[in-house]
Amino acid sequence: MSFSYQLKLSSRRKSVAIKIVKGQVNVYAPKNVDQQFLVAWLDSKASWVIEKQRESERLFQAELRQKSESFYLNGTRYSIVMASSCRTPCLCPETGVLRVSENDMLNLNTQLEKIYCESLSRILDSRLKYWASRMNTHFQSVKIRYYKSRWGSCDSKGRLTFNSKLACLPESLIDYVVVHELAHRTYMNHSKAFWTLVSQYYPEHEKAKQEIRRWARLV
Ligand SMILES: [Zn+2]
Repeated sequence: MSFSYQLKLSSRRKSVAIKIVKGQVNVYAPKNVDQQFLVAWLDSKASWVIEKQRESERLFQAELRQKSESFYLNGTRYSIVMASSCRTPCLCPETGVLRVSENDMLNLNTQLEKIYCESLSRILDSRLKYWASRMNTHFQSVKIRYYKSRWGSCDSKGRLTFNSKLACLPESLIDYVVVHELAHRTYMNHSKAFWTLVSQYYPEHEKAKQEIRRWARLV
């Protein structure tokens, strides 16, 4: 019995260890480990490793599937159900279910992106008006697009862009991003003065930042 693994040597390490993550086996060992000892030791662990690897792989696949069959909208989790009677995706907030046809299921990401954009543009419509007037500022235009690693941006001309994934978050966190970007109309940086301005309108911004980081892992 044998298994493939990645060997990670470290001069700080005193003993050997095996860790299995997402079906991948990593073997940690001291830099000067005796090769013969290592091979024999791994050999003695083979059946345990193979079993654990299978289990870890199974769990990883199930997580992947679950992630692709559910999504968040305004902080609520929706599961996705295939229903041939639904010509266009129908969203039911009461039951937390999105029904989609088989065809739409095949291009689920496009469908979800559409749902995110529609929902977010509705929310931004009212929240931007509200916050811009409260903060006594204005903006030029609003765009929604997919960003990999940012929630929003504001350029020197006041053109705002928001990440479509923002639609997944609860409205209170969308508010934080809106206040943050509108504060950039006064300060184009993250200086102390910028954060003072943000906290004037959104006192709990530290907590919001933490929560957003947690959401980023979910959506
Ligand atoms: Zn910023």
